[in-house]
Amino acid sequence: MIKYALVCDKGHEFESWFADSAAFDKQAKRKLVTCPVCDSAKVEKAIMAPRLAATKKRKTQVPAQPAPASADAPVPAAPVAMMSPQEQELRTKLKELREHLTKNADNVGKKFTEEARKMHYGEIEHRSIYGEATPEDAKELSEEGIEFHPLPILPDERN
Ligand SMILES: [Zn+2]
Repeated sequence: MIKYALVCDKGHEFESWFADSAAFDKQAKRKLVTCPVCDSAKVEKAIMAPRLAATKKRKTQVPAQPAPASADAPVPAAPVAMMSPQEQELRTKLKELREHLTKNADNVGKKFTEEARKMHYGEIEHRSIYGEATPEDAKELSEEGIEFHPLPILPDERN
């Protein structure tokens, strides 16, 4: 069986099945192939190329260009604080949390994004890890629904 795209003398396009190309020629000559719209027997094979090209063009969609990150974004000011005794205590706890994390979790460094993703998709077993992620990576991870937390950085450790 062979499917032909056909067109009548009035420009109606339709498709029909034939046993082979000879069968189409024979049936067309005997005016057995008629247009389903206007019943015209003046039917010929439609030229397929332009339609195929049009279909192909529709399928290849150009992805929307992401807005370029603004290069002249202002550098955020470093957070500073005058701390009360309670806050000093909190800060100690924060330090403990950080120490606990870094002691018990696996430092994967720059591979953090990769490792977090593998865990999320079940490629490797879950474990506590810490490392580095660029803001872009962090954004991607959260968009993928991967939960992670920024490692607390203490002001006196920045230097
Ligand atoms: Zn027609």
